[in-house]
Amino acid sequence: MRTLLASILLLLTAPLCAQVIAIRAGTIIDPVHGSGAKDQVILVENGKIKSIGAGLAIPAGAQVLDLSHEWVTPGLIDAHTHMTLTEIKDAPFESYYLNQSSTLRGLHGLHNVMQALQAGFTALRDVGNSAEWAMSDVRRAIDSGWFAGPTIIDSGKIIAPFGGQSLGIPPRQGPIWQFEYIDADSPAEIRKAVRTNIYYGAGVIKLVADNSAYHYSVDEIRAAVDEAHRAGLPVAVHCYTVDAADNAIEAGVDSIEHGFELTDAQLKRMKEKGIFLVGTDFPQAHLEIVGTSGGLLPEPAVLAPIIIDRLKRAHRIGVRMAFGSDTTIDMPGRTRADLMLDYLAVWRAAGIPPADILRAMTVDAAELLRINKDRGSIAVGLSADLVATPGNPLDDIENLRRIDFVMKDGKIVRRP
Ligand SMILES: [Zn+2]
Repeated sequence: MRTLLASILLLLTAPLCAQVIAIRAGTIIDPVHGSGAKDQVILVENGKIKSIGAGLAIPAGAQVLDLSHEWVTPGLIDAHTHMTLTEIKDAPFESYYLNQSSTLRGLHGLHNVMQALQAGFTALRDVGNSAEWAMSDVRRAIDSGWFAGPTIIDSGKIIAPFGGQSLGIPPRQGPIWQFEYIDADSPAEIRKAVRTNIYYGAGVIKLVADNSAYHYSVDEIRAAVDEAHRAGLPVAVHCYTVDAADNAIEAGVDSIEHGFELTDAQLKRMKEKGIFLVGTDFPQAHLEIVGTSGGLLPEPAVLAPIIIDRLKRAHRIGVRMAFGSDTTIDMPGRTRADLMLDYLAVWRAAGIPPADILRAMTVDAAELLRINKDRGSIAVGLSADLVATPGNPLDDIENLRRIDFVMKDGKIVRRP
């Protein structure tokens, strides 16, 4: 009888005693200092990093993971994704409004974020083009524990001047862009649009400042910044042109997205004000598929070197940067994550050192996403979002393509 009672008690108490996972790490990479600490042990308990050190005692009963021949880094972050969107080559931007429901878009987004997690992206900032808040539902599904996915910060609908990013839709068709944009054309309308997205759970506010003949003014962008910051959210602004970027910088946004034409003077002001550049630095092969975005962008062969030059200048000036891919295409035989990692080649072409690239993909991106108190670094007390690769990313950043171990919130997603 006593044995039975003891067994029942053991069963009842077992879930309360969380198992410790001990990771034997060959090298832990510190992207901030571009250094590595060799032969470390990381103890993980209840999803958090409990302790780190060389020669730490491994508690009895701990699950031991041998990564002693691997390089361990914080989980990767992409600060500019559109996981529910796939552009259709040579078709109008709006084609997928007609062909794909919000449900299908959401399921496609879920498929893409799961692939991204497998590849080592443990957090994503998804900045709109997600139908009727489909990405917000992907986030809810993951937060509910139905799927073991990455941390998702999503923007809800993109806020833009009348017309969203659609040009020349005939009046007869109606405002079909409202499927995934909120028209907002004054500070008051922008405040309402920001509140609408906050209501639906947005973790970032996304504005498109200049996809039409009428650009957002400083006052309009300032209204978004004021309203978003009051709720603790950052503001990300899509800017292709110099004028729009001037207004966004003046209004004190948190990040400029794209910013292909940013001048040195603008980059210096961004540095002074602590505004991040999320450069979405497209490889030319991707631009060939996206095209000129309805005439808004130069030809791929012209734009690709402009992007490399701007990335080089931004790094030289010392602007804070977060890695953002803006991948919206599919390619046969390749995952969305493979395509996101294609952007590494552009950063290499701009001569950015591997440690700085890794920093833009981890600790700095976490700061922009406002999750840095919990993620983006390997430190005691933070969530255990870790990846490992059999090659040193500080020697060759392309080793991030070889990630073979992924841990998300202390749970093993993938192991060698
Ligand atoms: Zn984008």
